[in-house]
Amino acid sequence: MNKKPPVVVVLGHIDHGKSTLIDYIRKANVTAKEAGGITQSIGAYQVSVETKSGKLKTENLITFIDTPGHEAFEHMRSFGARAADIGILVIAADEGVKPQTIEAIKDIKQSNLPFIVALNKIDRPQTNVKKVKEELIQHEVFVEGFGGNVPAVEISAKTGKGVKELLDLLTLMAEVEGLSADPAKPAAGVIIVSSLDSQKGVLATGIVKDGTLKVGQWLRLQSTHGKVKALRDFEGKLIKEATPSTPVQILGLEQLPAVGETFIAVKSQDEAASELLPAHSELISNKVIPGQKVLRFVLKAKESASLDALSKLFSQVQTQYPDIALQVVTKSVGDVSTSDIEIARRFNALIVGFAIKIPSIVRPLVAQKEISIKLFSIVYDLPKIVEEWVKQSFAQEAKALEKSELAVLGAFSKSKDGQVIGGKVAKGTIKKGMLVNIKRQENIVGRGKIINLQHLKQDVSVVEAGKECGILFQGDDVAVGDVLIES
Ligand code: GDP
Repeated sequence: MNKKPPVVVVLGHIDHGKSTLIDYIRKANVTAKEAGGITQSIGAYQVSVETKSGKLKTENLITFIDTPGHEAFEHMRSFGARAADIGILVIAADEGVKPQTIEAIKDIKQSNLPFIVALNKIDRPQTNVKKVKEELIQHEVFVEGFGGNVPAVEISAKTGKGVKELLDLLTLMAEVEGLSADPAKPAAGVIIVSSLDSQKGVLATGIVKDGTLKVGQWLRLQSTHGKVKALRDFEGKLIKEATPSTPVQILGLEQLPAVGETFIAVKSQDEAASELLPAHSELISNKVIPGQKVLRFVLKAKESASLDALSKLFSQVQTQYPDIALQVVTKSVGDVSTSDIEIARRFNALIVGFAIKIPSIVRPLVAQKEISIKLFSIVYDLPKIVEEWVKQSFAQEAKALEKSELAVLGAFSKSKDGQVIGGKVAKGTIKKGMLVNIKRQENIVGRGKIINLQHLKQDVSVVEAGKECGILFQGDDVAVGDVLIES
């Protein structure tokens, strides 16, 4: 086991200075040459901080999660614990504890994340540090000197005052926490950013939590897998491997992973691609009675209260369909995510979403995987949506059962291009390119492919029931009286 740099996430109320702090630290701690080279953030970066103990200087690395945009920060909070080792709770010292500060405190506590309070905007005249520390007591955060041992530093993210002390505290805290990892182990980590690039494909930034991630390794995630084609560090440089706590952009995943998914390096493609679903996605409702048909659903809602309401209503709707098992494969709060899509695909489920959106980033995936999604804004519309889906699904099933058939009325001798056949479509539709079986009396005697299709001497791609057509056929011999059946 080796010491590993801490991964730090910055949390706090909007406008309290999270981005300013992250920017300041990056600019102040990345050398001028490197700073010029950084054109685009990959969602995290590393700085090297110098600490002195006596005469001894030590270089300490710190990884900062740097997800731009407030919405992303909101999302970061909930999985911050998996990605981060230490939190910085930023509170503007002139405003004090605000709603998102309280949310951040909840998340920090829930995930047992060690943290430091940064009392920001100390350069402003109306700050009242003592008042903020007292407010924190009401939320059971006891800083040093106020009944506890949570470190608190006064800073100005704008002028940089106190930031050095904050970084020293971070390295100290990392030391105390004894953060360690084993670089010799297979890589394991968490995805903090993912996007689709029209040229490069899926770009995902991961933070290696343990082991060493290497180019060429197979990775297994919850919703996808892939072989690492290339790795880039936070400066955009191509690297061959990434050690613990290193933020790294990974190229080569098959599909867009959701933020917060974990990745592990495995030995083979088979192991990487084998079924792996998030822990919460077991079939969570309704056992199937033998003989029952099954329709599956992924339930989504904006918040947990409406998700509960939706689940209850769903159980009521089930009572109206004694012959069908309506199964909820998974339910969760939030907009449609890549893992919802992956689950919907694997279980052939309909995504039912109340008061949520399909983020533009996942839309291409919805189309590509041909996922059905129904979004609605009135809870009581659910029974109607289920009813429509039941009808639609069974209409499709009935259609699928009815295989198209062609009665052969004329069969000509074979040439090198194939055999020319004339006939009448008896059932369904005959299509160009269709693979068919040849039925003679009651036996299947051969098979082949419809290479070309003509109706009234014109090339067409489809001919419907009741109409006559000419076919160029490749395959076994066809005779008059045979029936070609879609295979
Ligand atoms: P975020 O929403 O928490 O990321 O907040 P920002 O970093 O965007 O900061 C919100 C506003 O506060 C911006 O106008 C910043 O310039 C300002 N700000 C941030 N830190 C300080 C500080 O230490 N002092 C002063 N005076 N203003 C600050």
